[in-house]
Amino acid sequence: MKKLGFGFMRLPLTDANDASTVDLEQVIKMTDLFMQRGFTYFDSAYVYHKKQSEHIIRKALVERYPRDSFQLCTKLPMAILTGPEDNDRIFNEQLEYCGVDYFDVYLMHAMNAERFEKAKKFGCYEYMQQKRAEGKAKKIGFSFHGQPDLLEEMILTWPDVDIIQLQINYIDWENPSVQAKKCYEIATKYNKPVIVMEPVKGGTLVNLPPEAVEIMKAEHPELSVPSWAIRFSASLENVMVVLSGMSNYEQVDDNTSYMENFQPYTEKDYETLGKVLDIFNQAAVIPCTACGYCVDGCPAGIPIPKYFGLYNNDQMAFTKNKSNNETYYRNMTDLMPKASRCIGCGKCERACPQNVKVIEGLKKVADRFENKNSR
Ligand code: SF4
Ligand code: SF4
Repeated sequence: MKKLGFGFMRLPLTDANDASTVDLEQVIKMTDLFMQRGFTYFDSAYVYHKKQSEHIIRKALVERYPRDSFQLCTKLPMAILTGPEDNDRIFNEQLEYCGVDYFDVYLMHAMNAERFEKAKKFGCYEYMQQKRAEGKAKKIGFSFHGQPDLLEEMILTWPDVDIIQLQINYIDWENPSVQAKKCYEIATKYNKPVIVMEPVKGGTLVNLPPEAVEIMKAEHPELSVPSWAIRFSASLENVMVVLSGMSNYEQVDDNTSYMENFQPYTEKDYETLGKVLDIFNQAAVIPCTACGYCVDGCPAGIPIPKYFGLYNNDQMAFTKNKSNNETYYRNMTDLMPKASRCIGCGKCERACPQNVKVIEGLKKVADRFENKNSR
């Protein structure tokens, strides 16, 4: 199987402010290009796109291609499970939404310490083992947003888990709050193949400072900036597939172009990346992956990832386009509540798998964009 997977979590929209309005026509074109170039792995989840992602995958993929021509993964929504009876109810809904008889991969979604306890209490893993025995979930596992010790404890608790989905990218590799390298090493030690999520960290590794782009282009003029991020993760031996949440046709075209005949990182590539990281580390960015899990519960209705994305771009653009970002912020806040409307309730921080200090981040956004004298 080729090492690039299509994540159905950042699909193109017909209304940019409503994640449920997926542009099916676009997604069909993207799916066709992906399949034509020999890629076969698709990733969805119950909660993506306000529960529309699985319906879209049925229409764009399942109803248009033979079942044995692709692999489909979806996830049990741990955040919204309320009791053991939800395991079966939701699994059956998912089969129906996706229009399939089985999943190739079925994962517990976004596991952390709290959800590990919930999974034990509700018998989620035992339920998944049963589905595996029935052939309705070929491989079972979990996607993980926690610290290495917890990962090891989970593998020891569920030793026959088939597969683990981890957040791996070049800035989180040594990042002490994510510890991607250590998590990867633990999965490898227990012979658990890894699926990589967030290889471009929600787009953060797409818009790099101009100096970093120059360094990359000097080494490989033919390769795009995101290719450095996807190839970094795909170069790890124990990685089965790298997921990219592609949002338009051009991204599918670009990603599949260099992953069709994938070339792993060379020594020179790692050296070049080291120089890029030196520049990257000078920019104080907020480690948000734009997953959007914090948004629904916010009583102030603040579009948190949108503001963090803008702030990060602003930080990394150094001297360029500063006033453009101020205009963007003004335009956004004509329609949506400002960052300074945060009441500090902390709901968002409890929902965030990246442990982002959202309240502090929003203060930085407000200082930067709402206070004319600050930069
Ligand atoms: S702390 Fe602020 S941003 Fe977070 S949920 Fe509460 S009001 Fe919204
Ligand atoms: S702040 Fe956290 S939950 Fe919210 S979009 Fe960013 S990473 Fe996701």
